[in-house]
Amino acid sequence: MKNCQQITQLASDAQDRQLRTREKLQLYSHIMMCQGCRAFYKNIDTLSQMMQTMKSQSHDINKDSNS
Ligand SMILES: [Zn+2]
Repeated sequence: MKNCQQITQLASDAQDRQLRTREKLQLYSHIMMCQGCRAFYKNIDTLSQMMQTMKSQSHDINKDSNS
């Protein structure tokens, strides 16, 4: 069983690279049981989604300001 530090590390790795199936299993089975890591994972997941949204929105903003 991985500890919380390893899990949060995995969670942030998941934002940068594709996790192996084994790593995903470890991550998900841990965050199902551990509220702290679940909150952490949700946080960085939201954060990375916000970054993606900001990236795609900045395209739209540029388009809009040109027209
Ligand atoms: Zn944990």
